Amino acid sequence: MTNVPELFGSMVFNDTVMKERLPKDVYKKLKKTMREGTAIDADVAAVVATAMKDWAISKGATHYTHWFQPMTGITAEKHDSFITPTDDGHVMMEFSGKELIKGEPDASSFPSGGLRATFEARGYTAWDPTSYAFVKDGSLYIPTAFCSYTGQILDKKTPLLRSMDAISTQACRILKLFGKDVKRVTTTVGPEQEYFLIDREDYAKRKDLIFTGRTLFGAMPPKGQEMDDHYFGALRPRVAAFMQELDEELWKLGILSKTKHNEVAPCQHEMAPVFTTTNIATDHNQLTMEVMRTVAQKHGFTCLLHEKPFEGVNGSGKHNNWSISTDRGENLLEPGKNPSENTQFILFLTAVIKAVDEYQDLLRISVASAGNDHRLGANEAPPAIISMFIGDELQAILDSIESGEDYTDVYKTKMDLGAAVLPAIPKDTTDRNRTSPFAFTGNKFEFRSLGSAVNIACANVMLNTAVAEELRQFADELEGAEDFEKALMALVKREIKAHKRIIFNGNGYDDSWVEEAEKRGLLNFKSAADAFPHYVDQKNLDLFAKHNVYTSAEIYSRMETQLEEYNKILHIEAMTMSDMVREEITPACIAFENELAGTVNAKKAAGVTGGMEAGLLGKVSELTEELYTKSAALDEAVAAVPTDDNEKAAHYYHDVVISAMDEVRAPADKLEGLVGKKFWPFPTYSDILFYV
Ligand code: ADP
Ligand code: MG
Repeated sequence: MTNVPELFGSMVFNDTVMKERLPKDVYKKLKKTMREGTAIDADVAAVVATAMKDWAISKGATHYTHWFQPMTGITAEKHDSFITPTDDGHVMMEFSGKELIKGEPDASSFPSGGLRATFEARGYTAWDPTSYAFVKDGSLYIPTAFCSYTGQILDKKTPLLRSMDAISTQACRILKLFGKDVKRVTTTVGPEQEYFLIDREDYAKRKDLIFTGRTLFGAMPPKGQEMDDHYFGALRPRVAAFMQELDEELWKLGILSKTKHNEVAPCQHEMAPVFTTTNIATDHNQLTMEVMRTVAQKHGFTCLLHEKPFEGVNGSGKHNNWSISTDRGENLLEPGKNPSENTQFILFLTAVIKAVDEYQDLLRISVASAGNDHRLGANEAPPAIISMFIGDELQAILDSIESGEDYTDVYKTKMDLGAAVLPAIPKDTTDRNRTSPFAFTGNKFEFRSLGSAVNIACANVMLNTAVAEELRQFADELEGAEDFEKALMALVKREIKAHKRIIFNGNGYDDSWVEEAEKRGLLNFKSAADAFPHYVDQKNLDLFAKHNVYTSAEIYSRMETQLEEYNKILHIEAMTMSDMVREEITPACIAFENELAGTVNAKKAAGVTGGMEAGLLGKVSELTEELYTKSAALDEAVAAVPTDDNEKAAHYYHDVVISAMDEVRAPADKLEGLVGKKFWPFPTYSDILFYV
């Protein structure tokens, strides 16, 4: 039996270890840095580095690495060993304060979206003391931010930390108006992670899975997910063994893995951790995805994190549960027990409503990717239109504030709505609207549009910054008010009226919602190609500049990087497709045709009349012909991709190349159903999704 409390965090240089291994004054200084984000002295860093190294060696580490999150969304690492040669031909294990604080990976190959000229390609990594270092696979991992020498940020962590500062500053101003002296407010996140586990042998036989993470061909098997027999079903022993090891590995790294279960699609599963500070939740989610992949391998599986590995069955997403909390642990999105607490709650709620309405585009951008294009709006994930669900109870309260009429609660008792007196808000009456992209779930919002593979930093940068901006406006207005309560009620009333169009409590999968949303003037960016260009809308540039999250140049670079990534993914998919047609599917069809033709001739020679073989041969031959033509058309489409402009290319990929890919897939999937099993060159959906 595993002793979980003992195992938990055993590979993390956490508070307990620091207390144990650092001199008291150094410990105090480090904690101050962690709490307040102040710079760290060189001598303190030197002591911390030595303590970290000694601890890491005791955990089996021989190397250290600055671990960072470049704009590609993956995590990057380069390992250096601790060894330093001595005069007598031996080595010592050393790690200096300088090495801890700053690293210089040769980063010229990371995308910078034009921020760096190649002649000054080097960037540097800087230790982020707010996220604990840890030991994994024989290396000490140091969480770091990644910047260029001109100070421009090249990663996903730095803007996240900045956005957390922004929302903290503004939320503290608001809390002060309520008489609360709060030093720091943080956002908290619990990301639920969906994934597929498939047999490694099947994976290895499919170039599409290897190169693109998803299947580009595949006919639906006779059975899909229509029986709903997988969701929350009993875990198969192999999967259970995987999950157990996954939990243990995550716990060692201090990741609060809490819930595990089967998901809707066959072979699909989910892990949800206990929520934590957004910065750490982001690091942990990146680690979780990586550990899932490596543990899967050990169990003969491949873990697929793609948003849509199989057409026709559910894809994978990530629910970003988000809230705001003070350094004393007060959840600011928790409806209170009395009217004055509720006033504060309503004010924060109003800020979120206004933020989501005014920055719908940024939220949509933060979840846009080539993979997620297959989910959003495709009747399984939330629609591509960003809206909010708040539930009937809160809706009734907001309605009453807006109209100035009495609010009637669930028990039908009339409540007096005086100036600042709000009714007690019943808890947990929020039902579960599963179709909303952004749902209030009692004391937090669940942003459901994220794709399974995405780095959650981006979505949280958008949320934090947008809400920070609304809180700033509210604070500016209310700080100057003569009568705070009156001014607050007037503000809430005005803003709810102005932004209620973003609230939609109905069924988001309904076609009528698309029309209704259009009437309301809500945005509907159907694809990533439509979304990314809005990064640089003036209001967005202004927002990020005002809160020191991104400069305009940094935003432009992000847009370019993401457009480029989108184009590259689609290019690889198209090339893989045509490669599989040429090298695998066509030869298989020809072999099958050959056998059929042999049978037809043999029958004829033997004087046997009739026979379905000739008919089948005709069909297969026709479809193979079609496949070949369509695949040539795809090649032509790819050859004509505009090369001068990423945005133009993205639209071209979306409008032209994807359609050409659909055209190739159709005859191939039909052929799969006709060509004999022993001829088909790779495992089918039946083989992959229904293994035992
Ligand atoms: P489900 O949505 O599957 O019913 P829960 O609502 O219990 O599950 O929680 C989902 C996720 O939300 C978990 O990761 C949980 O830790 C997280 N969560 C709960 N409270 C908060 C909060 N205040 N801030 C951020 N995340 C939270
Ligand atoms: Mg959930």
